[in-house]
Amino acid sequence: VAFSTETVYGLGANALDEQAVLSIYEVKGRPGDNPLIVHLAHTGLIPTVVADIPPMAVPLIERFMPGPLTLVMRRAPSIASAVSAGLDTVAVRCPSHPVAQAFLSMAGVPVAAPSANLSGRPSPTQVRHVLEDMEGKIPFVIDGGACEVGLESTVLDVTGDVPVLLRPGAVTADQIREACGLIPRVAKGTGQGPVRSPGMKYRHYAPRATVLVGIGRSLAARARHTAELVQEEVAAGRSVGVFASSKAILLIKEMQKAAPNENWPVRLVSYGELDDSVQASARLFDAFRTLDASGVDRIVVQSLPEKGMGAAYMNRVRKASAQKTGE
Ligand code: AMP
Ligand code: MG
Repeated sequence: VAFSTETVYGLGANALDEQAVLSIYEVKGRPGDNPLIVHLAHTGLIPTVVADIPPMAVPLIERFMPGPLTLVMRRAPSIASAVSAGLDTVAVRCPSHPVAQAFLSMAGVPVAAPSANLSGRPSPTQVRHVLEDMEGKIPFVIDGGACEVGLESTVLDVTGDVPVLLRPGAVTADQIREACGLIPRVAKGTGQGPVRSPGMKYRHYAPRATVLVGIGRSLAARARHTAELVQEEVAAGRSVGVFASSKAILLIKEMQKAAPNENWPVRLVSYGELDDSVQASARLFDAFRTLDASGVDRIVVQSLPEKGMGAAYMNRVRKASAQKTGE
């Protein structure tokens, strides 16, 4: 069953039923060593799926759950081993979305769920994205509208001495530090050493089109660079999809007016105000799907400062633009 949450749509199965869990990997085409997140109707159920709750997790649960935070803890034996892909830990989340909560309490079991996209596609943030990837492959989708956050949950490992940030999301490193008094260590996405979150070793959504990022120190500089990249690509004879602030889009439209006779193979999607990392995050995956489907050669994305929601936004933008790293 695919279901809406405040982050992205999930594809859920009974976390106590090995066969049901394995069917998720099959339907998504997901590698068997990339574990799923166990979703619970409320925080009172956390002790039923973990071996213990580390002290640092207590204030985090109190402050951010239900919500877009996933905690990695030592797993209880009741959880199907396929959920954890053979690890001795389990990732746990309590969504705040009322539709997700209703579904989870009616299910009456912990629900293992990754995002409801085919492996390698952007996570679905609207029910039509789920249908694009899953129609005919799964029996049910619960439509709860567009996802408010639009990026996957923050994943935090709380099994060690300090919390380790495995995936940035709407709950930020600063908020985690404030709540538990410990500065989270940011896990390296790739490179040496043991892979802490198996998801990190997989290449995330890389659009067919090459993704370019408009950068700069100030917000205005980022908008300008975004427009310059578009101009260069068009001059080189390529079609371009753009995901940028309304400011950058205005600059691009002015360029078009200055050269009205030229072929203008540009598709524009605005995220809104220059500094609106919340809205940019909410719209990013839909923009990737829409622009890629339109067949453009390049997708130009405006960067945002890496504070607040901007950190999670830039993490996903970087993953989409790092096409050849095999991440
Ligand atoms: P998805 O919801 O599709 O993004 O997939 C769940 C994410 O949580 C993936 O990035 C997994 O690697 C991560 N995850 C799930 N379980 C664990 C775990 N036990 N330890 C570390 N990361 C996990
Ligand atoms: Mg996913």
